Amino acid sequence: MATVREQKMEKLETKRDTYHLIINGERVESSSGETFTTYNPATGEPVAKVAKGTREDAERAVLAARQAFDYGKWRHFPVNKRARILNKIASIMRARFNELVELEILDTGKALSAAQGQVMQAIEDFEFYASAIVSHRGTVNNMPGAFHNFTEKEPVGVCAQIIPWNYPLMMAAWKIAPAIAAGCSVVVKPASLTPLTCIVLAEICHEAGVPEGVVNVVTGSGSEVGNYLVEHPLVDKVAFTGSTPVGKDIMEKASKTLKRVTLELGGKSPNIVFEDADIDAAVDGALFGMFYNTGQSCEARSRLYVHESIYDTFMEKFVEKTKKLTLGNPFDQGTHVGAIISREQLEVIDGYVRSAVEEGATIVTGGKEAKVEGFENGYWYEPTIITNVHHQMKVVKEEIFGPVVVVMTFSDEKEVIKLANDSEYGLGSAIWTKDHARALRVAKQIQAGIVMINSPFSAFPGTPFGGYKQSGFGRELCVETLDLYTETKSILSYYGSRPL
Ligand code: NAD
Repeated sequence: MATVREQKMEKLETKRDTYHLIINGERVESSSGETFTTYNPATGEPVAKVAKGTREDAERAVLAARQAFDYGKWRHFPVNKRARILNKIASIMRARFNELVELEILDTGKALSAAQGQVMQAIEDFEFYASAIVSHRGTVNNMPGAFHNFTEKEPVGVCAQIIPWNYPLMMAAWKIAPAIAAGCSVVVKPASLTPLTCIVLAEICHEAGVPEGVVNVVTGSGSEVGNYLVEHPLVDKVAFTGSTPVGKDIMEKASKTLKRVTLELGGKSPNIVFEDADIDAAVDGALFGMFYNTGQSCEARSRLYVHESIYDTFMEKFVEKTKKLTLGNPFDQGTHVGAIISREQLEVIDGYVRSAVEEGATIVTGGKEAKVEGFENGYWYEPTIITNVHHQMKVVKEEIFGPVVVVMTFSDEKEVIKLANDSEYGLGSAIWTKDHARALRVAKQIQAGIVMINSPFSAFPGTPFGGYKQSGFGRELCVETLDLYTETKSILSYYGSRPL
């Protein structure tokens, strides 16, 4: 494929053999000429070749983004015009919905229903920020005498946006939509395991009318390209979603140039089922909360606390339904649980399960690699329930990022709040009870950015998403996110007749 400007981003096929970097509105090869291959985790088969970004490519992308921000027109467009282009991005995505779903499944091995929901949410994110940006504005403040003060929201500048592999398109949308709505320009670095839909999204942005240089995508390793972006003096902000250790490293490095930083990190979210819960709803909620996206979710409810008086009834239903979850062709509507992203991740998951067994835990169901007919070369793990655990065990303390839930009992509200908060993470949490007063009382005491009451769903466009404690800081998916992509400028003037 050529690297030239003539190759405009008009007639694009979503699925193709080779994908390029997107720099300054062009599809370009890597400066090294190298490519890497992405594989379908469900089959182990190659999906496509992708240009392998380097530091030089990151440099070119930052300079393009800087040029677009400092001298380009995007940030100066009337806000309605930016909003219109965001809506156009959403409508192109809608028109290509099935292609995006297909590509996401091929790149991640996730189940069709999960991919469909995530692509739809990515579309809705652009629609949400198209609306939200229109009323995102400054204030007029009370001043003494002949002073007048107002504030303006100005885009923060060039943003490096680094995203993980578990929700490739949705995470790209969570990052790109608010940033460009606010008038910023971005350099996005997707995870190397799943770069395809992020690249296509950047192409769609251009097709919709985003000017060159505003949305750039550079693939490549985190330690090389990601790190380079984080340390780059011409980058104003880093928005990162990924693991907590990498988040800490990024925060330290970004502090050298005092970049603005937002971090969406890992989790070990508690799911609390009280004795008065609708047990069937709580069982379904626990299934979805844990096994959706094959458990590869930052807000997976992976610590399940069930009141001792309903434990046996709950577990009977939960175990039975878990055993019936279908692993299989991700493109089948009937498949509940998709593949694990890679062989390495599968081994990490299995290592956690083995450690639990060594520490005396009981595997109630699952606990090993799954064999899926017709998909023998893919990476599959049985949905796993572990009991007989305690809070000193690795499997209870650490994020596993796979389909493995630990179940514990509790006897009263105070005890379960203490257990729920006994974690270095604080991202999601869920409460199942018919007592609304209790639900709110407990919700206020849980140290987490998200509390779900009688709901398996953690987020919609408009709901703040982000963590307490070591799950990071900053909120995405909501109106407040726009504050994190803008600076507030105070303009103070004196209009008195006498000189001061
Ligand atoms: P990861 O931290 O390994 O990688 C995330 C991204 O950072 C990738 O693009 C990677 O290439 C890049 N990266 C790695 N090292 C880097 C470095 N030193 N400097 C700059 N960039 C670097 O995470 P992952 O394995 O891709 O994703 C799983 C993690 O993401 C889990 O911990 C999960 O909880 C978290 N996650 C959090 C949220 C949230 O909203 N809180 C959402 C999704 C995933």
